[in-house]
Amino acid sequence: NGGSSIKWQQRHNPTKSKDSITFGKRTNLTMKEQRESLPVFAMRDQLIQTVYDNQFTVIVGETGSGKTTQLTQYLNESGLFYRSAKSEKHLMIGCTQPRRVAATSVAKRVAEEMGVQIGEQVGYSIRFEDRTSELTEIKYMTDGMLQREAIRDPLLSEYSVIMLDEAHERTIATDVLFGLLKQACRMRNTDEERLRVIVTSATLNAEKFSSYFDNCPVVTIPGRTFPVEVMFSEEPCMDYLVSCVETVMKIHTEEKTGDILVFLTGQEEIETMCAVLEEKMEMLEKEKKESTDKLIILPVYSALPSEMQSRIFEPTPPNCRKVILATNIAETSLTIDGIFYVIDPGFAKLNAYDAKLGMDTLQVRPISRAQANQRSGRAGRTGPGRCYRLYTEFSYQKEMSANTVPEIQRQNLSNTVLMLKAIGINDILKFEFMDPPSRESILLSLNDLYYLGAIDGNETITEVGKQLVNIPTEPQISKTLLEGVKFNCSEELLTIFAMITTPNIYHRPKAQQEQADKKHARFKSPLGDHLTLLNIYERWVESGFDRYWCEENYIQLRSMNQARDIRNQLRLLFTKFKYPLTSCHGNTDSIRKALCSGFFKNIAKRSPSSSSQGNGSSYETLSELTQVFIHPSSSLSRSSPQYVVYNTILNTTKEYLVHVTTIDPKWLIEIVPEFFEINGKRTIMRKEQEVIKPLFNRFNRDQEGWRLSRPFTGST
Ligand code: ADP
Ligand code: MG
Repeated sequence: NGGSSIKWQQRHNPTKSKDSITFGKRTNLTMKEQRESLPVFAMRDQLIQTVYDNQFTVIVGETGSGKTTQLTQYLNESGLFYRSAKSEKHLMIGCTQPRRVAATSVAKRVAEEMGVQIGEQVGYSIRFEDRTSELTEIKYMTDGMLQREAIRDPLLSEYSVIMLDEAHERTIATDVLFGLLKQACRMRNTDEERLRVIVTSATLNAEKFSSYFDNCPVVTIPGRTFPVEVMFSEEPCMDYLVSCVETVMKIHTEEKTGDILVFLTGQEEIETMCAVLEEKMEMLEKEKKESTDKLIILPVYSALPSEMQSRIFEPTPPNCRKVILATNIAETSLTIDGIFYVIDPGFAKLNAYDAKLGMDTLQVRPISRAQANQRSGRAGRTGPGRCYRLYTEFSYQKEMSANTVPEIQRQNLSNTVLMLKAIGINDILKFEFMDPPSRESILLSLNDLYYLGAIDGNETITEVGKQLVNIPTEPQISKTLLEGVKFNCSEELLTIFAMITTPNIYHRPKAQQEQADKKHARFKSPLGDHLTLLNIYERWVESGFDRYWCEENYIQLRSMNQARDIRNQLRLLFTKFKYPLTSCHGNTDSIRKALCSGFFKNIAKRSPSSSSQGNGSSYETLSELTQVFIHPSSSLSRSSPQYVVYNTILNTTKEYLVHVTTIDPKWLIEIVPEFFEINGKRTIMRKEQEVIKPLFNRFNRDQEGWRLSRPFTGST
């Protein structure tokens, strides 16, 4: 608690309220009235006409103006886009979202507005879950799913209109779809089969989109926003979580009614803050301050179950104040009415390529000015609001970048390059990107794909590459799953990766952490986390998918059901593509060998200087020679084996390996002899051991750092 409290400074020249607008809560409007009160409604006919007259339309509008939920319905109701004259086929209106949560939540809302069941006229499709049918007219999906559809059908012939929503987010998939849809539109430009594309953005840099799409029209939906008073912290905050709690409590006890939205970086932070706020409220109640309202604390993040998420949309009861703790989902994808106060610490978690680790990792980074403005705008939807920025005006002006760097310029592109090659776009450097990725990062991905056997020395997709594309997981995982066939364990690997893909398997209620840990320890395999997860799943299957088994063992039933769904989806794909389903019946070597065959770039070796006893031995990755540690949650965190294969690296206070399994380094020579050699012998713990050295670094690294000499020189 101790820290001195934050001093607030008002932003210079705050926007003045233009006129005095009276506002009241729109809680008792009917669905129809609510739809008609949205700013897009006044422009309904104009929007339909513009989209009809042009192949490309850019639409700009404040968050909450009704773009996502209304436009698709307007186009559908107009009947102009219903079927292609040529084929008499019923065509759909498609709408992409960068986030799964947004796709499902918006689809549910629209189904409700139209009075239909989800999966009928309105459906959604996200990875491992398809809720569409023959009846579907409006389809919401993640941008990644539409990108996958383009592999099968580059003309996207099932759609009459495709809306690339939230384009300002600039996810890789949306950026790739820009190029793909531009091509598809050139092919589908006759009256009978015209494809139309709408690009929507919440921010005003629409000119760039318009010039990319052949100078297409830009329609701006006038916002109905109220002024937001922006407050900067006078001094930098040492610990923004502490400052957030302090600010929430100050607003709650001193300011007039109105809900609070706090932007945090991830689930863990959100849960911590929920707990702290609950404690504070309990204390306040004990002090019996009469006039304090109840504080309803609501978390929002993508792994949160959807029934919990819908609670944020429920109107706030009288004498209560909602505080919503959200990730940057709430920046633009989800609109929450009734927010009067925004607290913005100025950070977000994002996925970015880390050259030191040679892979993408999640990192907490400062947001851009554009994002900061988007965040403060959330306070002005229902009435004049206030935004507390937990950073100084100086860092806003001088230290934040103006715009967020598009994902395509900061992430590993292996998946994207492989997809484009599967679509038949071979020369990636010539693909029409809005902001092209660096040549270096394309070459890096080509190398990764080459090592996986997905492309050959001429950069052409191989049979293996085509098989990898059929499985909607990262190339390394897809490769491992397919290799599992050879090692007689594809069934086990499907389970393992379904479990790894599912968040929050373990349940650790605050009051019962010790009991929970004890139960969890019984599942731990001494060989590592992959086998631990397999163990949990198999015990659950033995129990007959029993809910009480989950309760007893502190395992989240909901997550297990999700893992089971993912597993079934992957298994269906295996059957569809006739990849054999094999089981090793408990032969753990087979499983670990299969892991090596896909994750051979993710091998780490215990550092020679590190002691073998105690916690926290340090490791060195074989590919980048970076110092890393096994995550404390791993079943290997205390045993410190010599060589391990890992799934990912988590970047927090240290670089931690997550999902780690022991391996015998000799396997590497057996399984991927192209990439490893024996490089002398060394005596370790009185035993002579061969030292394994990776060969792939020879291709792309020298003393000066990255140099991509072989096999891809980018001579194209
Ligand atoms: P935009 O895409 O322009 O940001 P939306 O179409 O998402 O706007 O939202 C329009 C309005 O619909 C919001 O202001 C909100 O009131 C309402 N709305 C959207 N989603 C939901 C939901 N899941 N539950 C209740 N209301 C919602
Ligand atoms: Mg929207």
